[in-house]
Amino acid sequence: MRHDVVQREPDLLGPEPIRPWNYIKMRRRAAGLTIEQAAKPFYQRPDHRACCEANLRTFEMPQVRVKDVRALDLPRAFPFDAGIYEMLRDLPQDEHPRLCVRCGWDEWTPQADREGGDTTWSGDLPGHCTRCEQDARRKGAL
Ligand SMILES: [Zn+2]
Repeated sequence: MRHDVVQREPDLLGPEPIRPWNYIKMRRRAAGLTIEQAAKPFYQRPDHRACCEANLRTFEMPQVRVKDVRALDLPRAFPFDAGIYEMLRDLPQDEHPRLCVRCGWDEWTPQADREGGDTTWSGDLPGHCTRCEQDARRKGAL
């Protein structure tokens, strides 16, 4: 049996794929929420708080794939597309939907940019949406 060590060649393979656990974290952060804030819609009693926060932390851990992501009802807390999560979880990388590499936005999701327009793909910052491009510009990164 051969055990080849495969080292990624970023120039040949393109950018790192967005994994399902990345997607949850990206969407939560794009909404400007901490784990604690994102967990709030999921508990009514204070003694459930720690459990809900721990669950959210788990969903964002590398290699964690949620089987029934729709049952989590994450859109209660932040914009999240369970169908995209399932594609990232179940399909090979070349069949993944195109997502903003920073916030996980997809072109089928209406989202206002920072200037009151509709988010679209950035012309200046490859792989990014215009909202993230505007953030980068504001921070002086562009
Ligand atoms: Zn973005």
